[in-house]
Amino acid sequence: MVYIFGPCSAENERQVIETAQAVAALAHNSQSTFIFRAGLWKPRTSPDTFQGVGKAGLPWLQTVQRQFHLSAATEVATVPQLQAALQAGIHYLWIGARTAANPIAVQALADALRSAESRPKAVLIKNPVNEDAALWLGNIRRLEATGTPVMAVHRGCNHHPCWALAYTLHQQRPDIPLLLDPSHMSGDAALVPELCQKASELGLYGLMVEIHPQPAQALSDSRQQLPLSSLSLLLQRSGPSSDIHWLRAMMDETDDALWSVIRQRMALSRRIGDWKKEHHLAVVQPERFRTMLDKRRQWAAEQHISAATVEQIMNALHSESIRHQTI
Ligand code: PEP
Ligand code: MN
Repeated sequence: MVYIFGPCSAENERQVIETAQAVAALAHNSQSTFIFRAGLWKPRTSPDTFQGVGKAGLPWLQTVQRQFHLSAATEVATVPQLQAALQAGIHYLWIGARTAANPIAVQALADALRSAESRPKAVLIKNPVNEDAALWLGNIRRLEATGTPVMAVHRGCNHHPCWALAYTLHQQRPDIPLLLDPSHMSGDAALVPELCQKASELGLYGLMVEIHPQPAQALSDSRQQLPLSSLSLLLQRSGPSSDIHWLRAMMDETDDALWSVIRQRMALSRRIGDWKKEHHLAVVQPERFRTMLDKRRQWAAEQHISAATVEQIMNALHSESIRHQTI
Protein backbone atom coordinates (compact mmCIF):
# COMPACT_ATOMS: atom_id res chain seq x y z
CA MET A 1 0.00 0.00 0.00
CA VAL A 2 0.95 3.63 -0.50
CA TYR A 3 0.60 5.71 2.66
CA ILE A 4 0.16 9.47 2.55
CA PHE A 5 0.40 10.65 6.14
CA GLY A 6 0.70 14.12 7.61
CA PRO A 7 -1.21 16.96 9.20
CA CYS A 8 -4.30 18.54 7.75
CA SER A 9 -2.40 21.85 7.66
CA ALA A 10 1.24 22.77 7.93
CA GLU A 11 1.15 25.12 10.95
CA ASN A 12 4.80 25.80 11.73
CA GLU A 13 8.17 24.32 10.85
CA ARG A 14 8.50 22.38 14.10
CA GLN A 15 5.15 20.64 13.71
CA VAL A 16 5.98 19.73 10.10
CA ILE A 17 9.41 18.33 10.95
CA GLU A 18 8.21 16.41 14.00
CA THR A 19 5.40 14.78 12.01
CA ALA A 20 7.62 14.03 9.03
CA GLN A 21 10.17 12.43 11.34
CA ALA A 22 7.54 9.98 12.60
CA VAL A 23 6.53 9.12 9.02
CA ALA A 24 10.17 8.73 7.98
CA ALA A 25 10.77 6.31 10.87
CA LEU A 26 7.94 4.11 9.60
CA ALA A 27 9.22 4.34 6.03
CA HIS A 28 12.65 3.26 7.21
CA ASN A 29 11.31 -0.07 8.50
CA SER A 30 8.95 -0.84 5.66
CA GLN A 31 8.81 -1.91 2.03
CA SER A 32 5.79 0.33 1.42
CA THR A 33 5.87 3.81 -0.08
CA PHE A 34 5.32 6.69 2.35
CA ILE A 35 4.50 10.25 1.29
CA PHE A 36 4.23 13.22 3.63
CA ARG A 37 1.11 15.37 3.26
CA ALA A 38 0.43 18.89 4.56
CA GLY A 39 -2.02 21.52 3.36
CA LEU A 40 -0.58 25.01 2.83
CA TRP A 41 -3.58 26.73 1.23
CA LYS A 42 -6.60 25.61 3.19
CA PRO A 43 -10.05 25.70 1.60
CA ARG A 44 -12.00 26.29 4.83
CA THR A 45 -15.73 26.75 5.04
CA SER A 46 -15.58 29.87 7.20
CA PRO A 47 -13.26 32.82 6.46
CA ASP A 48 -12.84 33.25 10.23
CA THR A 49 -10.90 30.00 10.60
CA PHE A 50 -7.24 29.24 9.88
CA GLN A 51 -6.64 29.62 6.12
CA GLY A 52 -3.21 27.96 5.99
CA VAL A 53 0.31 29.39 5.98
CA GLY A 54 0.45 29.54 2.17
CA LYS A 55 3.77 29.89 0.34
CA ALA A 56 5.63 30.32 3.64
CA GLY A 57 5.31 26.57 4.21
CA LEU A 58 6.96 25.52 0.93
CA PRO A 59 10.52 25.59 2.38
CA TRP A 60 9.32 23.31 5.22
CA LEU A 61 8.11 20.75 2.67
CA GLN A 62 11.39 21.11 0.78
CA THR A 63 13.21 20.34 4.03
CA VAL A 64 11.07 17.21 4.49
CA GLN A 65 11.94 16.00 0.99
CA ARG A 66 15.65 16.75 1.42
CA GLN A 67 16.23 15.74 5.01
CA PHE A 68 14.01 12.65 5.27
CA HIS A 69 14.02 11.45 1.65
CA LEU A 70 10.24 11.49 1.78
CA SER A 71 8.16 12.87 -1.07
CA ALA A 72 5.81 15.64 -0.01
CA ALA A 73 2.26 16.28 -1.19
CA THR A 74 0.22 19.44 -0.90
CA GLU A 75 -3.17 20.68 -2.08
CA VAL A 76 -3.46 23.19 -4.91
CA ALA A 77 -6.69 24.99 -5.72
CA THR A 78 -5.51 27.76 -8.05
CA VAL A 79 -2.99 28.16 -10.88
CA PRO A 80 -0.57 30.37 -8.83
CA GLN A 81 -0.62 27.77 -6.03
CA LEU A 82 0.15 24.98 -8.51
CA GLN A 83 2.97 27.00 -10.05
CA ALA A 84 4.48 27.85 -6.66
CA ALA A 85 4.37 24.21 -5.52
CA LEU A 86 5.97 22.97 -8.76
CA GLN A 87 8.65 25.66 -8.64
CA ALA A 88 9.48 24.50 -5.12
CA GLY A 89 9.84 20.95 -6.47
CA ILE A 90 7.04 19.40 -4.38
CA HIS A 91 6.71 15.84 -5.69
CA TYR A 92 2.94 15.30 -5.41
CA LEU A 93 -0.03 17.64 -5.76
CA TRP A 94 -3.63 16.96 -4.88
CA ILE A 95 -6.84 18.67 -5.88
CA GLY A 96 -9.31 18.90 -3.01
CA ALA A 97 -12.97 17.98 -2.92
CA ARG A 98 -14.22 21.58 -3.15
CA THR A 99 -12.07 22.41 -6.18
CA ALA A 100 -13.03 19.05 -7.71
CA ALA A 101 -16.67 20.18 -7.72
CA ASN A 102 -15.77 22.87 -10.28
CA PRO A 103 -14.67 21.58 -13.72
CA ILE A 104 -13.56 25.05 -14.83
CA ALA A 105 -11.11 25.22 -11.93
CA VAL A 106 -9.85 21.69 -12.62
CA GLN A 107 -9.37 22.49 -16.32
CA ALA A 108 -7.40 25.64 -15.43
CA LEU A 109 -5.14 23.53 -13.18
CA ALA A 110 -4.75 20.92 -15.94
CA ASP A 111 -3.78 23.63 -18.46
CA ALA A 112 -1.22 25.07 -16.05
CA LEU A 113 0.15 21.59 -15.41
CA ARG A 114 0.55 20.94 -19.12
CA SER A 115 2.52 24.11 -19.68
CA ALA A 116 4.62 23.87 -16.49
CA GLU A 117 8.36 23.39 -16.84
CA SER A 118 8.52 20.67 -14.22
CA ARG A 119 5.98 17.96 -13.54
CA PRO A 120 4.95 16.39 -10.27
CA LYS A 121 5.38 12.62 -9.82
CA ALA A 122 1.59 12.41 -9.83
CA VAL A 123 -1.48 14.52 -9.31
CA LEU A 124 -4.20 13.19 -7.01
CA ILE A 125 -7.82 14.12 -7.49
CA LYS A 126 -10.34 13.75 -4.68
CA ASN A 127 -13.99 12.99 -5.32
CA PRO A 128 -16.09 16.15 -5.56
CA VAL A 129 -17.91 17.07 -2.32
CA ASN A 130 -21.19 16.36 -4.10
CA GLU A 131 -21.83 12.73 -5.09
CA ASP A 132 -21.09 13.03 -8.79
CA ALA A 133 -19.21 10.12 -10.36
CA ALA A 134 -19.34 11.61 -13.87
CA LEU A 135 -17.63 14.77 -12.66
CA TRP A 136 -14.91 12.80 -10.87
CA LEU A 137 -14.31 10.66 -13.97
CA GLY A 138 -14.28 13.79 -16.14
CA ASN A 139 -11.73 15.46 -13.88
CA ILE A 140 -9.50 12.41 -14.16
CA ARG A 141 -9.63 12.67 -17.95
CA ARG A 142 -8.80 16.40 -17.86
CA LEU A 143 -5.70 15.65 -15.77
CA GLU A 144 -4.66 12.56 -17.75
CA ALA A 145 -4.60 14.67 -20.88
CA THR A 146 -1.62 16.56 -19.40
CA GLY A 147 0.50 13.40 -19.45
CA THR A 148 0.94 13.48 -15.65
CA PRO A 149 0.19 10.24 -13.75
CA VAL A 150 -3.18 10.53 -11.99
CA MET A 151 -4.43 8.90 -8.81
CA ALA A 152 -7.89 9.20 -7.26
CA VAL A 153 -8.69 9.74 -3.59
CA HIS A 154 -12.08 8.78 -2.19
CA ARG A 155 -13.00 10.98 0.79
CA GLY A 156 -16.75 10.35 1.00
CA CYS A 157 -19.46 13.03 0.95
CA ASN A 158 -20.44 15.05 4.03
CA HIS A 159 -19.13 12.43 6.42
CA HIS A 160 -20.97 9.63 4.62
CA PRO A 161 -18.79 6.94 3.06
CA CYS A 162 -20.57 7.05 -0.34
CA TRP A 163 -19.12 3.65 -1.23
CA ALA A 164 -21.28 3.50 -4.36
CA LEU A 165 -19.36 6.49 -5.73
CA ALA A 166 -15.97 4.81 -5.19
CA TYR A 167 -17.35 1.55 -6.60
CA THR A 168 -18.33 3.31 -9.84
CA LEU A 169 -14.81 4.67 -10.16
CA HIS A 170 -13.26 1.30 -9.34
CA GLN A 171 -15.42 -0.38 -11.98
CA GLN A 172 -15.07 2.20 -14.72
CA ARG A 173 -11.40 3.04 -14.22
CA PRO A 174 -9.70 -0.01 -12.68
CA ASP A 175 -6.44 1.35 -14.12
CA ILE A 176 -6.50 4.46 -11.87
CA PRO A 177 -4.92 3.87 -8.44
CA LEU A 178 -7.64 4.54 -5.88
CA LEU A 179 -6.76 5.68 -2.36
CA LEU A 180 -8.99 6.20 0.65
CA ASP A 181 -9.02 9.30 2.87
CA PRO A 182 -10.69 7.99 6.05
CA SER A 183 -10.03 11.26 7.91
CA HIS A 184 -12.31 13.43 5.80
CA MET A 185 -14.67 10.54 5.16
CA SER A 186 -15.46 10.13 8.86
CA GLY A 187 -14.47 13.45 10.43
CA ASP A 188 -13.68 11.42 13.54
CA ALA A 189 -10.26 10.07 14.58
CA ALA A 190 -11.86 7.13 16.44
CA LEU A 191 -13.32 5.78 13.19
CA VAL A 192 -10.14 6.08 11.12
CA PRO A 193 -8.38 2.76 11.99
CA GLU A 194 -11.48 0.73 11.11
CA LEU A 195 -11.78 2.54 7.78
CA CYS A 196 -8.11 1.83 7.03
CA GLN A 197 -8.91 -1.84 7.46
CA LYS A 198 -11.87 -1.44 5.12
CA ALA A 199 -9.53 0.06 2.49
CA SER A 200 -7.38 -3.03 2.67
CA GLU A 201 -10.43 -5.33 2.40
CA LEU A 202 -11.51 -3.45 -0.71
CA GLY A 203 -8.04 -3.89 -2.17
CA LEU A 204 -7.44 -0.14 -2.48
CA TYR A 205 -4.10 1.20 -3.61
CA GLY A 206 -3.38 3.34 -0.56
CA LEU A 207 -4.43 5.64 2.25
CA MET A 208 -4.28 9.36 2.91
CA VAL A 209 -4.58 9.97 6.66
CA GLU A 210 -4.29 13.10 8.79
CA ILE A 211 -1.93 12.89 11.75
CA HIS A 212 -0.72 15.59 14.14
CA PRO A 213 1.68 15.75 17.10
CA GLN A 214 -1.12 17.27 19.23
CA PRO A 215 -4.45 16.73 17.50
CA ALA A 216 -6.43 18.66 20.13
CA GLN A 217 -4.37 21.77 19.37
CA ALA A 218 -4.54 21.43 15.57
CA LEU A 219 -5.56 24.61 13.76
CA SER A 220 -7.81 22.69 11.36
CA ASP A 221 -9.72 19.38 11.45
CA SER A 222 -8.64 18.69 15.04
CA ARG A 223 -11.32 16.05 15.69
CA GLN A 224 -10.19 13.80 12.89
CA GLN A 225 -6.40 13.88 13.25
CA LEU A 226 -4.62 10.98 14.93
CA PRO A 227 -1.63 11.38 17.24
CA LEU A 228 1.76 10.19 15.99
CA SER A 229 1.66 7.39 18.55
CA SER A 230 -1.17 5.65 16.68
CA LEU A 231 0.59 5.56 13.32
CA SER A 232 1.17 1.81 13.45
CA LEU A 233 -2.62 1.24 13.75
CA LEU A 234 -3.01 2.58 10.25
CA LEU A 235 -0.73 0.16 8.44
CA GLN A 236 -2.50 -2.57 6.50
CA ARG A 237 -1.83 -5.65 4.49
CA SER A 238 -3.65 -5.08 1.24
CA GLY A 239 -5.94 -7.92 0.24
CA PRO A 240 -7.11 -8.91 -3.23
CA SER A 241 -10.07 -6.87 -4.42
CA SER A 242 -13.38 -8.73 -4.53
CA ASP A 243 -16.83 -7.45 -5.38
CA ILE A 244 -18.35 -9.05 -2.31
CA HIS A 245 -16.45 -6.57 -0.08
CA TRP A 246 -17.71 -3.63 -2.13
CA LEU A 247 -21.27 -4.91 -2.10
CA ARG A 248 -21.16 -5.48 1.68
CA ALA A 249 -19.70 -2.04 2.28
CA MET A 250 -22.59 -0.55 0.28
CA MET A 251 -25.08 -2.75 2.15
CA ASP A 252 -23.77 -1.64 5.56
CA GLU A 253 -23.98 1.98 4.48
CA THR A 254 -27.56 1.45 3.28
CA ASP A 255 -28.47 -0.15 6.63
CA ASP A 256 -26.90 2.78 8.48
CA ALA A 257 -29.09 5.13 6.46
CA LEU A 258 -32.16 2.96 7.07
CA TRP A 259 -31.67 2.94 10.86
CA SER A 260 -30.99 6.62 10.89
CA VAL A 261 -34.34 7.19 9.14
CA ILE A 262 -36.05 4.90 11.67
CA ARG A 263 -34.51 6.98 14.48
CA GLN A 264 -35.87 10.14 12.83
CA ARG A 265 -39.28 8.49 12.52
CA MET A 266 -39.36 7.71 16.24
CA ALA A 267 -38.38 11.28 17.11
CA LEU A 268 -41.31 12.50 14.98
CA SER A 269 -43.58 9.95 16.64
CA ARG A 270 -42.75 11.39 20.04
CA ARG A 271 -43.66 14.88 18.83
CA ILE A 272 -46.93 13.59 17.38
CA GLY A 273 -47.57 11.83 20.71
CA ASP A 274 -47.11 15.13 22.58
CA TRP A 275 -49.52 16.84 20.22
CA LYS A 276 -52.13 14.09 20.71
CA LYS A 277 -51.79 14.37 24.49
CA GLU A 278 -52.24 18.13 24.36
CA HIS A 279 -55.34 17.76 22.16
CA HIS A 280 -56.79 14.80 24.11
CA LEU A 281 -56.57 12.44 21.16
CA ALA A 282 -56.07 8.66 21.53
CA VAL A 283 -52.57 7.36 20.77
CA VAL A 284 -53.84 4.72 18.32
CA GLN A 285 -55.70 6.08 15.30
CA PRO A 286 -56.75 2.93 13.34
CA GLU A 287 -58.06 4.91 10.36
CA ARG A 288 -54.77 6.72 9.86
CA PHE A 289 -52.76 3.50 10.12
CA ARG A 290 -55.01 1.74 7.58
CA THR A 291 -54.47 4.57 5.05
CA MET A 292 -50.71 4.44 5.56
CA LEU A 293 -50.62 0.68 5.17
CA ASP A 294 -52.71 0.73 1.97
CA LYS A 295 -50.44 3.31 0.40
CA ARG A 296 -47.32 1.23 1.16
CA ARG A 297 -48.95 -2.00 -0.02
CA GLN A 298 -49.68 -0.42 -3.38
CA TRP A 299 -46.16 0.96 -3.70
CA ALA A 300 -44.59 -2.37 -2.70
CA ALA A 301 -46.53 -4.24 -5.40
CA GLU A 302 -44.90 -1.99 -8.02
CA GLN A 303 -41.47 -2.68 -6.46
CA HIS A 304 -41.96 -6.45 -6.30
CA ILE A 305 -41.80 -6.46 -2.52
CA SER A 306 -44.29 -8.90 -1.01
CA ALA A 307 -47.40 -7.55 0.73
CA ALA A 308 -46.62 -9.74 3.76
CA THR A 309 -43.20 -8.09 4.19
CA VAL A 310 -44.70 -4.63 3.91
CA GLU A 311 -47.27 -5.50 6.57
CA GLN A 312 -44.65 -6.92 8.91
CA ILE A 313 -42.43 -3.86 8.59
CA MET A 314 -45.31 -1.37 8.89
CA ASN A 315 -46.70 -3.20 11.91
CA ALA A 316 -43.29 -3.24 13.58
CA LEU A 317 -42.80 0.49 12.90
CA HIS A 318 -46.30 1.25 14.13
CA SER A 319 -45.90 -0.68 17.40
CA GLU A 320 -42.55 0.96 18.07
CA SER A 321 -44.06 4.39 17.33
CA ILE A 322 -46.91 3.67 19.76
CA ARG A 323 -44.36 2.65 22.39
CA HIS A 324 -42.58 5.98 21.83
CA GLN A 325 -45.87 7.83 22.26
CA THR A 326 -46.75 6.12 25.49
CA ILE A 327 -43.41 6.29 27.35
C1 PEP B 1 -7.50 17.98 3.05
O1 PEP B 1 -7.10 16.91 2.59
O2 PEP B 1 -6.96 18.58 3.97
C2 PEP B 1 -8.79 18.52 2.56
C3 PEP B 1 -9.13 19.78 2.70
O3 PEP B 1 -9.55 17.55 2.04
P1 PEP B 1 -10.93 17.60 1.20
O4 PEP B 1 -10.64 18.39 -0.02
O5 PEP B 1 -11.18 16.15 0.94
O6 PEP B 1 -11.97 18.23 2.10
MN1 MN C 1 -8.18 18.32 6.59
